[in-house]
Amino acid sequence: MRYLRRMTTTPSPDAPRTFSDLGLGADLLKALDGLGYEEPTPIQDLGIPHVLAGSDVLGLAATGTGKTAAFTLPMLERITKGGPAPSALILVPTRELAVQVAQAAHRYGREMAVKVLPIYGGQSFGQQLRVLRRGVDVVVATPGRALDHIRRGTLDLVTVEMLVLDEADEMLDMGFAEDLDAIVSELPETRQTLLFSATLGPRITRIAGKYLNDPVEVRIADEPEQDGDGPRIEQRAYLVRRPHKLAALGRVLDMESPEAALVFCRTRNDVDELVEALNARGYRAEAMHGGMSQDERERVMKKLRAGTVDLLVATDVAARGLDISHLTHVVNYDVPNAPKSYVHRIGRVGRAGREGVAITLADPREHGLLRNIERLTRTKIAIDSLPTVADMRAHRMEQTRVALRETLLGGDLDRFRVVVESLNDEFDLWDIAVGAVKMAHEATLAEAAGTEEEIPTASAPRYSHGRGTGKGERRGAKSGAGAGGKSGSGGRRRTPGMVRLFVGAGRQSRIRPGDLVGAITGEAGISGSQIGTIYIADKYSLVEIAEGVSDQVYRAMKSASIKGRRVKVKMDGS
Ligand code: AMP
Repeated sequence: MRYLRRMTTTPSPDAPRTFSDLGLGADLLKALDGLGYEEPTPIQDLGIPHVLAGSDVLGLAATGTGKTAAFTLPMLERITKGGPAPSALILVPTRELAVQVAQAAHRYGREMAVKVLPIYGGQSFGQQLRVLRRGVDVVVATPGRALDHIRRGTLDLVTVEMLVLDEADEMLDMGFAEDLDAIVSELPETRQTLLFSATLGPRITRIAGKYLNDPVEVRIADEPEQDGDGPRIEQRAYLVRRPHKLAALGRVLDMESPEAALVFCRTRNDVDELVEALNARGYRAEAMHGGMSQDERERVMKKLRAGTVDLLVATDVAARGLDISHLTHVVNYDVPNAPKSYVHRIGRVGRAGREGVAITLADPREHGLLRNIERLTRTKIAIDSLPTVADMRAHRMEQTRVALRETLLGGDLDRFRVVVESLNDEFDLWDIAVGAVKMAHEATLAEAAGTEEEIPTASAPRYSHGRGTGKGERRGAKSGAGAGGKSGSGGRRRTPGMVRLFVGAGRQSRIRPGDLVGAITGEAGISGSQIGTIYIADKYSLVEIAEGVSDQVYRAMKSASIKGRRVKVKMDGS
């Protein structure tokens, strides 16, 4: 076996490097900017320069670390484009991965007009052949189908400059060892070879010795373990497939009722999309990412401190150096690409001795990455099951119970007795009480819209050799979380010193009290304390405003929009 040139490479301790520092060209930088990537992940930081320099690379990286870009970006930079036959061959274990990697290569190579073709079993040969004949730069194939093409003489590999074996351990597990040998023997000796694997066992060392030439080994060096005095943070993860992440996040937020939460995404584009989706569902979310000006960031921070926004959606880069003292929750919408960022992210809660909660939504494929984080940080991340629809219903019922209890304890009920008395001729007292609870409960339901969609359970794929799933205790329904703050009282009597603003949008437009408070404080520049009771009906809402500022509010709201829509406003009774 040929020896490994370097055993381990560690990231540079200096300031984080940018993609352009790594030596990638303008076309790729433009594509990455368009995708909203803010900085290289550790495996990219380490690997890209070696690949660009022409070395063979043995990369140790799990799914979710950014390994696809780590090999695809420098590959696109180096290979000949527009030739008559493929310049690069990427071998992957499954058809899903073939499609995914091909899509990634296509996205990264957008500015270069790179032609990429995924080839996998189950697809018609004819179609693959037609595309191959038109000329393809990068072929992403499962070993079996690649070999079929080679045997039929339909895949010419003599022009291949670069071979990538992605998830090599997985390919060996699936019994592709002989196929790999047969394919590699068709490739020019002069090619550059990259081999990526999540694990490094004797079988990987053996094929690395066979296929790689004087390789550089790239892996993320283990982080120093955490000492025991870290912040007190309850850590939990849910396994959720990408398409169900938004619904899962909604459920988690509704269940947890965070005072203020920081939600992390990997890219700028993910942040923008999530903010839009959350606001459309009635949450109060703002973005924080590297593409924003200092002024914009400060405006967002102000809103967060004032409490008109309670969800901040951010990238790692943007969240560095933010100081949010009342943060109760950190949510990782994706598993961070590196253990180090996980530690940074969750360290934002649990400050000053307060307890914080860190929740991670992980794609089942990223289970291995999660376990890696656990190992390197020496902490336990309990894999929990998402709250079910039944849990959500029970939670909302509990919220209604708590709110009702508070109302009863709060007194000032005499003016409602007449309603009960007049109904008592016709109904049993017990039934009247139950009916009133139903009304109060249903008044909060509009806010919960969207939390009842089905989310299929996702389990870790069979090849994640996790150390048990450590079922954690789910926290019980949080008491004291009133049923929607100022909303839902249904009280239509006017509070002294307040006037009412009529707003022509209500429950049917998914308006929540927070939207009204946010819009009014934001547009009219008044404080939340100058807003009184909010009543939300199906088609309209009534908001009590302190008399002294009502004109100012009316003027501001006349031309303002709520949740992106212009709505009719007038002073009630005018
Ligand atoms: P992979 O480990 O290749 O499966 O990548 C995991 C995810 O990370 C993919 O969704 C990529 O789009 C994303 N990703 C890769 N590199 C970066 C980066 N530098 N910044 C943000 N996201 C990234």
